[in-house]
Amino acid sequence: MSRVYNFSAGPAVLPEEVLKEAQAEMLDYRGTGMSVMEMSHRSKAFDEIIDQAEADLRTLMQIPDNYKVLFMQGGASLQFAMIPMNLMKHGKADYIVTGQWAKKAYQEAQKYGTVNKIASSEDKTFSYIPDCSDLPISEDADYVYICENNTIYGTKFKTLPNTKGKILVSDVSSCFLSEPVDVSKYGIIYGGVQKNIGPAGLVISVIREDLITEDVLPGTPTMMQFKTYADNRSMYNTPNCYGIYICGKVFQWIVKMGGLEAMKERNEKKAAILYDFLDQSRLFKGTVVKEDRSLMNVPFVTGDKDLDAKFVAQAKAAGLENLKGHRTVGGMRASIYNAMPIEGVDKLVEFMKKFEEENL
Ligand SMILES: *Cc1c(COP(=O)(O)O)cnc(C)c1O
Repeated sequence: MSRVYNFSAGPAVLPEEVLKEAQAEMLDYRGTGMSVMEMSHRSKAFDEIIDQAEADLRTLMQIPDNYKVLFMQGGASLQFAMIPMNLMKHGKADYIVTGQWAKKAYQEAQKYGTVNKIASSEDKTFSYIPDCSDLPISEDADYVYICENNTIYGTKFKTLPNTKGKILVSDVSSCFLSEPVDVSKYGIIYGGVQKNIGPAGLVISVIREDLITEDVLPGTPTMMQFKTYADNRSMYNTPNCYGIYICGKVFQWIVKMGGLEAMKERNEKKAAILYDFLDQSRLFKGTVVKEDRSLMNVPFVTGDKDLDAKFVAQAKAAGLENLKGHRTVGGMRASIYNAMPIEGVDKLVEFMKKFEEENL
């Protein structure tokens, strides 16, 4: 067996300990004689798995009691519709568009009401986060929406926008559990788990209780109402049981690693290794403004398409995989999520140095 350093933006690297534990429990989960994939979601064993996962997430994020944790399917993309369907009581929302995922959410929401783009960084190919300290928030906006870490462009909100009292909804898919958060500042904080937490197809949403109501847009399907999940402990229908099981293991791994403070420290250290190199490199350069740099997704270019392609191919041959930038951006992108070990980033920078020497 040989594992590579996997810099994929998602689905992405998971902690090796977690994969080994899952492997050990594959045929016989703790004396049940079956795998978690084979057991009823109504069984005692699975009940304990989902309860423990929620409890550990609550501890890690210090989730206040007036917030619900929902495990949903359909990926983060289904939330682009679910959020307006559940929150647009006045038919109006404000969106800050800082990348493709925010843009997709903005476009989807337009199906359900009046949607204002109150800020955007599209003018400079999403390479920065706009000043959000005094935006023209609509008086009757039901919520203000952001994508907190821009997976494709590699920017991150370092301070949350001033929503002038309106509910903040945040997509944290690619920075979930990467650092401590103050949940009380959000109405909804949600993400697809395949970037930093677990297997694709599962979304975790932390929602303030008063936002979960029966007052949803007419025609909202049962399976798209937050209340359906909240009232049934995310088990109105069969949930993504195996996904929840793996997420639970990742939560315990983070607890063992020292929680979100420790994750932040580790992530800052990893990102610094890469950014410090980029800042002095004569061949490679980062593509976003320094103060808005993501700790998780690091895009960079040589400025020469052929050289970029050569780099990606040679890196792959050296066991450094999935460094090709997003198809819409080109260049390279290293995603260095929680589970990427420091030595993976060291190896990458070592390789970049060598490549630079050979190609300047
Ligand atoms: C990957 C990603 C999505 C889409 O997730 P799906 O689960 O594929 O729908 C949405 N938002 C952000 C920030 C992402 O990184």
